Amino acid sequence: MAKATQDLLIRGATVIPMCGDNTPALLDVRIANRRIKEIGPALKKQPGEKLLKAKGKVLLPGFVQAHVHTCQTLFRGQADNMVLLDWLSKKIWPYEGALSRQTLRASAQLSFAELLLSGTTSVLDMGTVRHTDVIFEEADTFGIRYTGGKTIMDKGRYPGNLNESADEALKESVRLCEKWSGAADNRLRYAFSPRFALSCTNKALKGCVREARKRGALLHTHASENVAEVAAVRKQSGKDNVEFLHSIGFSGDDVLLAHGIWLSAKERRILKKTQTRVVHCPSANLKLASGIADIPRLLDEGIPLALGADGAPCNNNLNAFVEMRYAALLHKIKHGPKAIPAQKALELATIDGAKALHLDDVGSIEVGKKADLLLLDLNSINCWPPTDNLFSRIVFAAQTQNVDTVMVDGKILVESGKLLKTSLKTIMRNSDEALKRVQKQMAR
Ligand SMILES: [Zn+2]
Repeated sequence: MAKATQDLLIRGATVIPMCGDNTPALLDVRIANRRIKEIGPALKKQPGEKLLKAKGKVLLPGFVQAHVHTCQTLFRGQADNMVLLDWLSKKIWPYEGALSRQTLRASAQLSFAELLLSGTTSVLDMGTVRHTDVIFEEADTFGIRYTGGKTIMDKGRYPGNLNESADEALKESVRLCEKWSGAADNRLRYAFSPRFALSCTNKALKGCVREARKRGALLHTHASENVAEVAAVRKQSGKDNVEFLHSIGFSGDDVLLAHGIWLSAKERRILKKTQTRVVHCPSANLKLASGIADIPRLLDEGIPLALGADGAPCNNNLNAFVEMRYAALLHKIKHGPKAIPAQKALELATIDGAKALHLDDVGSIEVGKKADLLLLDLNSINCWPPTDNLFSRIVFAAQTQNVDTVMVDGKILVESGKLLKTSLKTIMRNSDEALKRVQKQMAR
């Protein structure tokens, strides 16, 4: 049987393992059959192995982003200077409602290219209502580790193709879950993804909990992002957002809630007790003027956390370097300069994200784990001169331009900072045309 990937010896990198005492060390890393097989000084090259010379470079686990919207990347720059509920109803829903299979494909291609080029190897994605197969197809082709699902909006009226009943939404979610969960050697997984409490009936939300748990799939939604959203949930349910979700079973270690900015002490206790994950999206929270999630407090209280860029129209990048930097800077205002040190920010973007997503095989450099790795070249003007504190160099100084090599499942997808087997020119031209087609559709 032909080997799925080329076995590889990465020689002489400074390895940041993101596990154990997490001390960077000069080591070689052997990769065989998609996994890390051996880590040590001066490993001998085996016959048939490709040699990747990494002297002077830094090897770390690929970034994990636990909240993105690849369906929205086409709309980058189309919805600036707005607050959440206007941003959704006036811009994002009309745009999403006008997506076709073809234009959604262009958005997914744009997203995966940007994510991989900036070192992200795993994402949790919320799709739009329709055509979700297309995103999975592109995730499969690009080689990224992808967990995602169609979003559900069965309460209220929405523009274009977004309207559906709870039964239709659940039926399509189950079909997608059965088709894609575990595909590409478990690189693709499904997550039931109702948009948020305001856009979903209790029937749909409870149905997601039931169907996801039957299949061991994750649950992914937005919660407590904006004051007006929290007030509307309280008006409709008589409860705060997380309290309401908890009351219908939408809490637990298989649940990821994006944002978690406006949380009561009672809600934080629920999150801790149920080990519900909160995904911090600092750029999006700043851009939509939503507020600042109290991440140091959530960490102190033992609530599991991860990072995410959210969508391109509220960021406007999908770049983990940007989110790490904001996560490390933002909380110093309230909690002082020692809040979220660089090492913690890097943990949030790697091992903590992997744990939040139940990706037990990625997020650190350990023998037996899958080879989802990122090689950085910090020998550049923006990271110079070098300091001993690699965490600081990576979180505060490094940028996308420092990404040298990115691999998922031991397969090299980015080499010398270039996406392999993909024409960025074509992706950019296609997405430009796709945006024009979406806007034409919206004008009808
Ligand atoms: Zn979002």
